[in-house]
Amino acid sequence: MNNENAADNQAAAGSAGATGGASGAGGDPENPFKRSKFSRANKATTEAAKAKTEVCPYCGERPPSTLDHIKALKDIWESGGKEMTREVRSRLANDLRNLIGACKSCNSAKQSSELGPGVGQWWPKAWNDWWPFGGP
Ligand SMILES: [Zn+2]
Repeated sequence: MNNENAADNQAAAGSAGATGGASGAGGDPENPFKRSKFSRANKATTEAAKAKTEVCPYCGERPPSTLDHIKALKDIWESGGKEMTREVRSRLANDLRNLIGACKSCNSAKQSSELGPGVGQWWPKAWNDWWPFGGP
């Protein structure tokens, strides 16, 4: 039993060492992103965000029924949020300037993607060259 566990641990450590550093995009396995690392925006802020636009700004068609973090929580986490206290990173994430109402369809298509036209980014089809948030 003990010998088997030791062998497994060694194998796991070995493979992590072999790929460590080069992977990068996956985040820190010791301190992974979880939704619970951020508090939720309060009701007033949520309603204010949804009231910014009459229709979802990503498709320009459907009602903005869900709350979208323009800079995704995972993105905030990985670009320094994990070094902050939960309160500070939540305040950053739930700043009204980072919130917008989006339809369910666009919000689930966007997920944790960064907005932009590049590889691995999500760019709403309706936008073309239009950028509503003060520059990418
Ligand atoms: Zn939409």
